[in-house]
Amino acid sequence: MDAFPEEAPFRKEVRTWLADNLVGEFAALRGLGGSGSEHEAYPERIAWNRHLAAAGWTCLGWPEEHGGRGFGLTRQVVFHEEYARADAPARVNHLGEELLGPTLIALGTEAQKKRFLPPIVEVHELWCQGYSEPDAGSDLANVRTRARREGDDWVIHGQKIWTSLAQHADWCFAVVRTEPGSRRHAGLSYLLVPLRQPGVSIRPIRQLTGTSEFNEVFFTDARTRADLVVGEPGDGWRVAMATLGFERGVSTVGQQVGFARELAEIVAEARANGTFDDPLIADRIATAKLGLEVLRTHALRTLAGEPPPGADNVQKLLWARWHRELGELAMEVRGASGLTVGAPYVPDRLQSMFLFSRADTLYGGSDEIQRNIIAERVLGLPKEPRA
Ligand SMILES: Cc1cc2nc3c(=O)[nH]c(=O)nc-3n(C[C@H](O)[C@H](O)[C@H](O)COP(=O)(O)OP(=O)(O)OC[C@H]3O[C@@H](n4cnc5c(N)ncnc54)[C@H](O)[C@@H]3O)c2cc1C
Repeated sequence: MDAFPEEAPFRKEVRTWLADNLVGEFAALRGLGGSGSEHEAYPERIAWNRHLAAAGWTCLGWPEEHGGRGFGLTRQVVFHEEYARADAPARVNHLGEELLGPTLIALGTEAQKKRFLPPIVEVHELWCQGYSEPDAGSDLANVRTRARREGDDWVIHGQKIWTSLAQHADWCFAVVRTEPGSRRHAGLSYLLVPLRQPGVSIRPIRQLTGTSEFNEVFFTDARTRADLVVGEPGDGWRVAMATLGFERGVSTVGQQVGFARELAEIVAEARANGTFDDPLIADRIATAKLGLEVLRTHALRTLAGEPPPGADNVQKLLWARWHRELGELAMEVRGASGLTVGAPYVPDRLQSMFLFSRADTLYGGSDEIQRNIIAERVLGLPKEPRA
C-alpha cells in the first residue's frame, strides 16, 4: 500500500503529469542516467529537467519566495516515489537543488540568493561539490587548496578530487583554506567558484563502470569574486557541515523505489536462468526483500517525526551495505556470464550496478566513519586515537 493515503490526490496528480509528459522525445529517456550511466543522453536529460522546472516540479521543498513550492516532507516523498516508479531519467542538478540551494537559503546573503537560486530552480546552472582532496576525504579538515584575497577577487590554488559531475557543472561550491598557517577546521572558507575559466582544469576519472561519474579538478590561480563566500571568511567548516546536513534527504525514498526495481530485475533473471531454485539464492533474495522493507520503514519513520540521534548515519550504513550486497547477489545470479564484458568495454545494467555499488560504502561518508560517529557522538564511547 502507498504511504501517506491522505496525499492520494497529489500522488495521482504527479503520476498523471509524468505519464502525460514522459512521451514523445522524452519517452526514450526512461531509466537513463543512473549511477554508472551518468553520461547517457545528457543534453536530452537537461531538456527534460527544464521541462520539469517549467511545470514547477523542481526544488519542491524550497520556500515559494525562492522559487520552490514550499511542500512539506510527505509531498516531497510522494513526488520522489512516483518519479522513480515512472522510471523517469536521473535528475541532472541534485547537487544544486538538494545541497547548495538549501545552504544558501539558510546561510547565504540576499544577493547570493537572488543571483544563484533562480538558475538552480530553472536548471540553467549546474553545480558540483568541491570538498574532497587527495589527502582530505574522511579527514576533510585536512583541506589544502588555498585561496588568497587579491583586490576584489579570491585567487584559488590547489586540487579537488572525486568531484561528481564536475565535467558538466558551471559552478563548484568548494571548501578552501583562506587563512595562511591555519590548521584543521579553522581558517577554511566556503567559496562559490565559476568553473568555466582558464584557471580551472577538469579531468574525468575512468571508473570500474568504464564511465566517469567523478573528476579531478585543478585550480591554478582560478578566480572568484570576493563576495562569493558563504558565511564569513574563516567560517567555512560550519557552512560545509550545514550542507552535509541536507545530504540525506527525502530523495532516499525515491532511491529505494529504484532499488526495488533492481531487485525485481535480479528475481526475473534468477527465474529465467533457473538459479531461483537454488535454496541459497532464494534465501538471499528473501533476505534482500526484507532488508528493503527495513530501509523503507526506517526512512519513513525518520522523515515523519523527530529523528533519533544518529538516524541519518544508521540509514547510510543500512542502505550502503544493503545495496552492495544486492550487487553481489546480481553477479551470483548471473553466474559466469556476469564475469564477461565485450569489447568495447560496456558493462550491462546489472554489471554496472554491481560495479558502481562498490562505492556506496565510501561516498557520503564511509561505513567506518559512520560507525565512528555513532560510537563517539551518539553512544558516547571513548574517542579512537587520532593521528
Ligand atoms: C562515487 C563517489 C562520488 C563522490 N563524489 C564526491 C563529490 O562530488 N565531492 C566530494 O567532495 N567528494 C566526493 N566523493 C569523495 C568521498 O566523499 C570520499 O571518497 C570519502 O569521504 C572517503 O574519503 P577518501 O576516498 O579520501 O578515503 P579515505 O578517507 O582515505 O579512507 C580510506 C579508507 O580508510 C577508512 N578510514 C579513514 N579514516 C578512518 C578512521 N578515522 N577510522 C576508521 N577508518 C577510517 C575509510 O573508511 C576508508 O575505508 C565521492 C566518492 C565516491 C566514491
